Amino acid sequence: MSMNLVTLLYLVASVCFIQALKGLSHPTTSIRGNVFGMAGMAIAVATTAALIVKLAGSGTGLLWVLLGLVAGGGYGAWKAKTVEMTKMPELVAFFHSMIGLAAVAIAVAAVAEPAAFGLTPPLDAALAAIPAEDGVAPRTLAPIPAGNRLELALGAFIGAVTFTGSVIAWGKLSGGSKFRLFQGAPVQFAGQHLLNLVLGVAALAFCAMFFASESALAFGIVVALGLVLGVTLIIPIGGADMPVVVSMLNSYSGWAAAGIGFSLNNPMLIIAGSLVGSSGAILSYIMCKAMNRSFFNVILGGFGGETGGPAAGAAQQRNVKSGSADDAAFVLGNAETVIIVPGYGLAVARAQHAVKELAAKLTEKGVTVKYAIHPVAGRMPGHMNVLLAEAEVPYDQVFEMEDINAEFAQADVAIILGANDVVNPAAHVKGSPIYGMPILEAHKAKTVIVNKRSMAAGYAGLDNELFYMDKTMMVFGDAKKVVEDMLKAVE
Ligand code: NDP
Repeated sequence: MSMNLVTLLYLVASVCFIQALKGLSHPTTSIRGNVFGMAGMAIAVATTAALIVKLAGSGTGLLWVLLGLVAGGGYGAWKAKTVEMTKMPELVAFFHSMIGLAAVAIAVAAVAEPAAFGLTPPLDAALAAIPAEDGVAPRTLAPIPAGNRLELALGAFIGAVTFTGSVIAWGKLSGGSKFRLFQGAPVQFAGQHLLNLVLGVAALAFCAMFFASESALAFGIVVALGLVLGVTLIIPIGGADMPVVVSMLNSYSGWAAAGIGFSLNNPMLIIAGSLVGSSGAILSYIMCKAMNRSFFNVILGGFGGETGGPAAGAAQQRNVKSGSADDAAFVLGNAETVIIVPGYGLAVARAQHAVKELAAKLTEKGVTVKYAIHPVAGRMPGHMNVLLAEAEVPYDQVFEMEDINAEFAQADVAIILGANDVVNPAAHVKGSPIYGMPILEAHKAKTVIVNKRSMAAGYAGLDNELFYMDKTMMVFGDAKKVVEDMLKAVE
């Protein structure tokens, strides 16, 4: 295989990745986007494997590569097939952590054996034979080029931050761990932001030292500081802000991969890493705007930790109006316009097909039905769009928050199915952890029906005033069962 062919195949794979991103930007083209992504990755992996055979021949080294491909590819395929949709964010955080770890491992290996990575000329026998007592390590005769030293230090640093940051994010998203660090609640202490700043500046200073001296100690300190910074950046972040963190770590993992691509002189890794890095950064920016958070605060880990506002718990003592599925069906059947707000609980209950049938039945009866999607509803960006698309809900009934918010005030009924934080008016209360986050304004509808199993709080751990309003009827129970009962009653 000639190098020209390798370059051409990498180019084809890159075009596939760009097409994949383009396709994934809309539900109707997302399947095509996925196919492009898979084709691009298959071409990239096969070309790289062939390149390794060409450069290294078929020795034990190749066996290791094949073993890695089979183990990693097999695990990835099995995980993707079996993961529940609700566990997707944890899986994504886990994958990000693996990219970060891979970036660190490659950078460490490249610093230890630069000749093996083609960063320095191969040591000939004469250099290797220089006796150790001369006090000159052979490697110092052929230093790593300055540009590569910079890429290695920065790539390893970003990789280390991505690795530990993603491990903490994974823990926060899976919840329920007995380690406080891995729980959803923010961990805060005085001087946290100053500490992050000091760690960041120190890491950059040691990067500069490695750049100037190629000191292995300076490199090791950069990696260690990155590992610590990953933890301290993510622990103060509150539950409701985790979506932005996930997309931010996604971006970091891309930049780490791109940095390592430069060191390995692999254009494919540079292009794919930059695509992930920049698209992740754009997504983070969009989500910051959607949640009214400062982009720079997010990057610096200084957001989402405010305390105050209504906490869950006090809720238990207060009265709410509750009704049965039949009561709710009666209200729905008599409405002219109904807006359905799906949330994380709907995904847990896998009630999307039942909801679609209920909506179809109501439409048949002359009710206008629309779905309102909050950008961070569920547990991953676009979660609700994916869920509704799976049930083949017509796209023209599905509306993004900014397009539908004005319609709640005219709607007869807003029915909230397994959503909580995304409709919590605490977002308007100064001092609340979700203060400033735009919400779906379901509380403005003439009647509000809320389905959930209990009065438990949502992901942000906050009580929700919406549940106590006079016009709100709570229908307790698993979303699937409740919606199926409503469907029967409407029929
Ligand atoms: P929430 O997590 O705020 O609330 C979900 C509600 O669903 C809970 O109050 C729960 O109450 C209820 N529920 C759970 N299971 C069921 C069930 N089987 N049937 C009926 N109800 C059920 O979800 P939202 O979608 O409103 O908000 C998403 C939250 O997750 C936001 O805070 C967001 O920031 C965060 N997040 C989002 C990510 C993303 O990328 N989209 C990623 C990470 C976090 P009960 O237990 O009483 O039933």
